[in-house]
Amino acid sequence: MHDQNVLRTTLLALGLAIALPIATVSSQTQQAPAPPPSTLDPPTRADLLRGQYGRYRANNDLLFYHLDIRVDPEKKSIAGKNTIRFRMLADDTRIQLDLAASLNIDRILLGSTPLKYERDLGTVYVDFPSTLRSGREYTIDFHYSGQPEEQGRFGGMAFRKDAAGNHWITTACEDEGASVWWPNKDQWRDEVERMQISVSIPGNLVDVSNGRLMGKTDLGDGYTRWDWLVQYPINNYNVALNIGRYEHFSDKLGDLPLDFYVLPANIEKARKQFAQAKPMLEAFRSYFGEYPFEKDGFKLIEVPYAGMEHQSAVAYGNGFVNGYLDRDWTGIGISLKFDFIIVHESGHEWFGNAVSAADVSDMWIHEGWTTYLESLYVEKLFGHEDAIRYVNSYKPKVQNREPMITQRGIHRQPQQDMYFKGTLFLNTLRSVVNDDNVWWALVRDFYQQFKYQNIMTEDVVRFFNARLKRDLTPIFDQYLRRAALPTLQLAFNGAGTMAYKWKTDERAFAMPVRIGRSGNWTTIEPTTDWKVMPISLSKDAIEVATDLYYITVEKQ
Ligand SMILES: [Zn+2]
Repeated sequence: MHDQNVLRTTLLALGLAIALPIATVSSQTQQAPAPPPSTLDPPTRADLLRGQYGRYRANNDLLFYHLDIRVDPEKKSIAGKNTIRFRMLADDTRIQLDLAASLNIDRILLGSTPLKYERDLGTVYVDFPSTLRSGREYTIDFHYSGQPEEQGRFGGMAFRKDAAGNHWITTACEDEGASVWWPNKDQWRDEVERMQISVSIPGNLVDVSNGRLMGKTDLGDGYTRWDWLVQYPINNYNVALNIGRYEHFSDKLGDLPLDFYVLPANIEKARKQFAQAKPMLEAFRSYFGEYPFEKDGFKLIEVPYAGMEHQSAVAYGNGFVNGYLDRDWTGIGISLKFDFIIVHESGHEWFGNAVSAADVSDMWIHEGWTTYLESLYVEKLFGHEDAIRYVNSYKPKVQNREPMITQRGIHRQPQQDMYFKGTLFLNTLRSVVNDDNVWWALVRDFYQQFKYQNIMTEDVVRFFNARLKRDLTPIFDQYLRRAALPTLQLAFNGAGTMAYKWKTDERAFAMPVRIGRSGNWTTIEPTTDWKVMPISLSKDAIEVATDLYYITVEKQ
């Protein structure tokens, strides 16, 4: 995801006027949003129900969903079923699923047997008449209907009209959860291996969902069913509907099908702007390896909000211009050289969609890495110097008020530092490694090791420590689990020597850093204890490579 509110907050902080880029957004979303809740606030009961991976979630492993729904644009309603196949990991008689309390459960069936269930806010506990056995696979049909409530930053499920007055219905529900519009096991740890998405809509509309289009069927009642097959694991929130009067054009990158869906009025602009998809895909695969969802293809789909990384079906709302929402997002000119939404949201195919966090607490694995991928794209296309300037231009957006990693099990989305501090941290790690050949192999192997998996920060740290044969844990902990930046303290006593140490929360923090003069750096190895070195430069003349290491410096 990329959060339009971050932009808005930043612009407000700069005292700039805000132009909303998209004419079709409702007045509801034009109001200035309230600041996000502190990640340190106590959880609500709904947060606990949603976030805990308790017995009735952990007793099963998702295998397959077939979401088969009918969407009525006039009534703004949805009806259908999700067929859920899972393997039991323990003997039990109950599993925990999720569906927004405002939607109706019509029936839940095991074969032809109706199942009992109990609802508690957004949770649905499904009870079975006899014990489900560990190791066995089961399939239930969860029938539901109702009118999804529009909510959240990008609408959850939003029934809109385009400028020509045609229906335009989209979903984007990363934070609020996919259960705002369809029943599923709504958490981050467990993903289905594959998924079928069948969407029945009025025959004059097009649905673009995730995966490969298997075909469409005229249902004879004015409706057409669009069938899509996702051939990889997929996060629930990535499952998307994009229903509108789309026009389609296509291209190929080698064997990879590229499909583009936009409103008719924008097709010429799109043909020009979406040409950026190829160099973007080529850049990311040069760093990490093949596009992760080759069998499903790559799609860009116009939507009425900024953008979202829906797997193999990336939502695009950047107005067919470079920058982010028609602005120089990082304020140094580089952002205007490319389309931010194409690069950022597609970068998530590697980090977020292929490599996924197992709890929203560790969402920096999605956003910190993908923001770093922006700078890798800049490095590939415009050079190393621009990449370093680009990374550092994110500094004014960092707050350093709360740790980037939030408490687990309460579905608590981290604050915006996960984007900008996350990428500045990864740039710092590259400087700690201090050998680009090692760095490129390391990040590629990290991606390859964990693609199609749901991981936590501990897995990242373990991998980096093992590969580099050094303990970087205190560095990861200081940047990710503490609010404050490491401070390099330099003390001058006027006798040709300098004392230096790190001031950090992590007592074991030890990180090399480059000081001296730009272009002629000396690497020192401070710890949290004072060390002393001879020095020929004066207090004022000595510089620290703060473009390469995200730290603060105190001279005394
Ligand atoms: Zn993002």
